[in-house]
Amino acid sequence: MFNTGITEKFRQIRTPFYYYDLGLLNATISRCLQEADRHGFYLHYALKANSNAKILDLISSNGLGADCVSGNEVSMALAHGFPAGRIVFAGVGKTDDELRLALGSGIQSINVESLQEMEVIHGLASAMDKKARISLRIIPNVDAHTHRHITTGLEENKFGILPWQFDAVLDRLRSLDRLELQGLHFHIGSQITDLDVFKSLCDRVNEINSWFTEQGFTADIINVGGGLGVDYGEPDKCSIPDFESYFRIFSDLVELHGRQQLHFEPGRAIVAQCGSLISTVLFIKEAVNTSFAIIDAGMNDLIRPALYQSYHKIQNLTSTGKKRKYDVVGPVCESSDCFGKSVILCETKRGDLIAIRSTGAYGQTMASRYNLRDLAAEVYSDGI
Ligand SMILES: *Cc1c(COP(=O)(O)O)cnc(C)c1O
Repeated sequence: MFNTGITEKFRQIRTPFYYYDLGLLNATISRCLQEADRHGFYLHYALKANSNAKILDLISSNGLGADCVSGNEVSMALAHGFPAGRIVFAGVGKTDDELRLALGSGIQSINVESLQEMEVIHGLASAMDKKARISLRIIPNVDAHTHRHITTGLEENKFGILPWQFDAVLDRLRSLDRLELQGLHFHIGSQITDLDVFKSLCDRVNEINSWFTEQGFTADIINVGGGLGVDYGEPDKCSIPDFESYFRIFSDLVELHGRQQLHFEPGRAIVAQCGSLISTVLFIKEAVNTSFAIIDAGMNDLIRPALYQSYHKIQNLTSTGKKRKYDVVGPVCESSDCFGKSVILCETKRGDLIAIRSTGAYGQTMASRYNLRDLAAEVYSDGI
């Protein structure tokens, strides 16, 4: 991905920064759309994976909708060309202000996660003299077999409505006349690489969808969320996820009733591989059994390794020396500020450029200013 021309340009830019390959992003969006179109599926890009203005503009101009999890994300989506009618809003703890914003801007659907939230939305909609289109976020009890911090579809998770609550929910829906049930929503987790998990999801979706139809509530929209994983081990060989197999599973297995539409909310799968965190080596420190390569990017720039022990491929862009093992760490005062242990790199020295790959998703959006560090800049392939 990085030829010497790009590396020379990187040397002129203050590190650390996020670099985005827009050619790859475009190719990924095209492939995703092409495979979804084949089956007539609808896409909502999950903004929380990456909400940089330029990336949002590119995604919205390709005609995707948006999946938001905060009021600010709804505002951001609206400001960057996503039509209100294609924005959905999920989240287990929406504030009244956020719900009023959603109701006022006429988004496609508010995905409600509890009976109490339904009552609150009804009250707010009445006060605004509006109807609220809602979807029920359902816990299908499917194990995503991913890291426990990014599993959301199990009974013990805080998200969504459990099957034993369905009767009560439908009872209330019959009397809450400001609410219009539009869809059933499922999102079971992220970085799912075992496609069999999605087959299990399809089975549960069919059971639950049939149950609702039997009760006289046929939802217009079945939304199966996001979650498709990317190959963190091989960002160059597998730069575009296997959208074809992914969508085919749902096309083969989900039984839609009448004119029901099937919607998806990919985040990571769209943006992860186009981003890299570029950093400079500050110091090499020999230690017991290892050498530390201390770089100028920290866990405040990219928290995934510290937060859920995630793997990112790390490369030295400026050395061709013989291979050695390094623990690649940041400058933040936490021992968890480590991007990789025993990473094999070409002989590394002060001043070398390091790329931490596959950081386009949940990189910049999770950054903080911990230790009062500056936020990393963003650099695009069309701008250098
Ligand atoms: C985070 C999130 C997504 C996107 O998940 P990815 O694994 O990044 O595709 C989709 N839907 C909802 C409701 C989410 O919270």
